Formats: sequence, C-alpha cells, structure tokens
Amino acid sequence: MGRKVYLDSAATTYVSSEVMAEMLPCFNAIYGNSNSVHSYGRDALAIVDRARDRIAHAINAEKANEIYFTSGGTEADNWAIKGLAYANKDKGKHIITSVIEHHAVLDACKELENEGYEVTYVPVDKTGLVNIAEIIHAIRKDTTVISIMAVNNEVGTIQNIKTIAKLAHDYGIIFHTDAVQAMGAIKLDVKDMEIDAMTISGHKIYGPKGVGCLYVKNGIKIQNLVVGGSQERGKRGGTLNVPAIAGFGKAAEIAVRDMSINQQKIRAEREYFLKNLKEKVPYIQINGHPFQKINGIANISFEMVDKESLLMLLDMEGVAVSTGSACTSNVVEESYVLKAMNVESEFLNSAIRFSFGKNISKSDIDYVVEAIVKSVEKLRSFSALTKAGRR
Ligand SMILES: *Cc1c(COP(=O)(O)O)cnc(C)c1O
Repeated sequence: MGRKVYLDSAATTYVSSEVMAEMLPCFNAIYGNSNSVHSYGRDALAIVDRARDRIAHAINAEKANEIYFTSGGTEADNWAIKGLAYANKDKGKHIITSVIEHHAVLDACKELENEGYEVTYVPVDKTGLVNIAEIIHAIRKDTTVISIMAVNNEVGTIQNIKTIAKLAHDYGIIFHTDAVQAMGAIKLDVKDMEIDAMTISGHKIYGPKGVGCLYVKNGIKIQNLVVGGSQERGKRGGTLNVPAIAGFGKAAEIAVRDMSINQQKIRAEREYFLKNLKEKVPYIQINGHPFQKINGIANISFEMVDKESLLMLLDMEGVAVSTGSACTSNVVEESYVLKAMNVESEFLNSAIRFSFGKNISKSDIDYVVEAIVKSVEKLRSFSALTKAGRR
C-alpha cells in the first residue's frame, strides 16, 4: 500500500489518545445511567459533571449548567436557530444570519421561513467577511436572533464576532454563533465576546463523533428540544452518552490547553505548504481572507483544473482533501460560500480545501505537494487541448 496523508481535518479529526483514555472506562467500568440515584449513577454523573465543567471552563462560561449536550454541531445549530426563534416569538419573527453559514443553520432558517418567520441573509465581501453595515441595515424592531458563524468551514475566515454581538445587544437582540471550526483555532470567551448561545462539536477537536453542545447563557429563553426526560434541565431529554461526553469534555480541555503550540505548528506547516505550492504550481489562487483566518484551512483554486478530477487523482495518491462542506462532497456542486464571495467561475470550479491537523509533518507536506504537481500537470495537459490558447 502506498502512503496516505489526511488533509481534511475541517471535516473530522481522529480521536486523540488522551481523549480515548478518558472514554474507555465509561464503556464498561463506569456504565451507570447518570440519572440513576445509586452509586453507579453517581459515578456516571461525576464523569458528565466533570466534562461539563471542562467545557464551561474552556469557553469561560459563567456556569457549567449553561452547557447543554447534544448529538453534535448540526443538532446544536438547529436547536439554537429554532429554539431561540420559537421562545422569543412574542417579540417578533425576524432573524438575521449570513449567506455563508453551515447548512445546519441555513436549513433551520429555511424551515422557519416556511412557518412564517422572515430571515435576512447578509452578504459577505470577497474575503468572506460578513458586512457589518448590512447587519445594521437589516435590524428591525421584530428581530429576535442574529446568528453568525465564528469561523467559516470552507475558507477559514474569522468573523468579527465580538463586534456583531455588541451590535446585537445594543438592539436587545440575542446573538448565537456556530463556533465549531473556531474551537481550538482561536480563543473563545463567551463572556468577553458577549455570546448568548454557541455551538461546538466534539469530532472537529480530536473528540468523538456524535457529541457536541449548545452553550446557552442563563436567562436566555430557548424552547425545549427533546421532551420526555429531565436530562439537560429538561431541555434535551434522553439518557446521556457518557463515553462521548467524557471524551468531548477532555477534547475541549486539550483544545484550549494546547492551542498555542498546535497553532504555531499548523501555521508553520501551512506556510511551508503554500510556499512550495506557489513555487511549483502556476496559476493558483488562494481564497479567503489574507490574514483574518484560521491557520488550519487553505482554500486553493487551480486554474484550468476540474476540482472533482483533482480530488480523484489526489485520492489515488492517498491524499485526502475535499471541496469544503461534507454534505455536498458527493455531488458536483458549486460552493455557495465561494459564490457568495464573488469568486469567478474559473476559480469556483477548481477550488479545493486543504485542512491541516495537529499531527501533520513536513514530510507529509512534501509528499502532498508532489502529488498535487503530478495531478495538476496531468489535468492541465488534458484541459490545454480543450482550452487551446489559454496557456
Ligand atoms: C462540522 C460543522 C458543523 C456540524 O457539526 P457535526 O457535529 O458534524 O454535526 C456545523 N458547523 C460547522 C461550521 C461545521 O464545520
């Protein structure tokens, strides 16, 4: 078998060994139902409480009870959008979000629109930054929620969350942010950033899949998501997934503990990658903000190359990359994020997302660059036939 390199960490990460060690005893030794009143239950509850404390601490939440465990980022986003809209509908039925949100937010908004709510989708500039003037312009008397993602998952642009949150509060509007890609990449402080509700996911931060949380500041009204159990203060009933929660808690703790060292390393590898790529592959364009972006994502267009073909050739070389959002990666579809950023069609159809994990090495990068050189040359030699005169 040939070599394999994973450059799709924005889609998911491996479970780190420290996280694994935290989870393993919860499958058999500590198997109680955290809701039970006997010692088995108390032992499980202690695990859940510790995870909740770790997450609260990692994001500087005032109280651990502001963390509500969910099945992941998608569920937390759905809940935030609908739960906040429903619980505050007395005040109005207007919501503001951006055109580049994850589908978990966008599709929840679409459903609200079907129920008679109104949603304003604010545009972004060519770097992927949400236009704050447009948010101000969109605010109405009946606006109840503003939801803007902290970091975009396709291009890595970091939004000015604190400014937008302050703005929302000036008008008495609740502010939610999808911080799935931000956790571990930038500092997240819900108090300092004035965040009312925030989504995080386990499997993007070296934790297990199928677990995440919604932070909801005490005092913020949100409709219950799942009834039929007293778990999560009655808001999201159901027996807790103790092993996953234990792992998620540990992953969140590590994400903050190791952030600066991981980011230093990832930044160095990304710079090394881009430098080599620019030297060896002509006609490329880097999409996203030039500096207000996370280190782990590089979205690159290869002129005169079809992205699906490049993905396939790279996969044959053992290099795992993607076009961006996982939901659309099986379909040849244009990126709505790059489109919103006004990326020209030539670059739109040739954009690949390289996302770097904390275990990436220089020799991995060397291998990947060679694979790209080979694949791009092959594809361009074909496309040169059909696009004679372009080169
Ligand atoms: C991955 C992701 C989600 C979804 O999280 P899951 O835990 O996979 O459901 C939501 N938002 C963003 C920005 C993401 O990258």
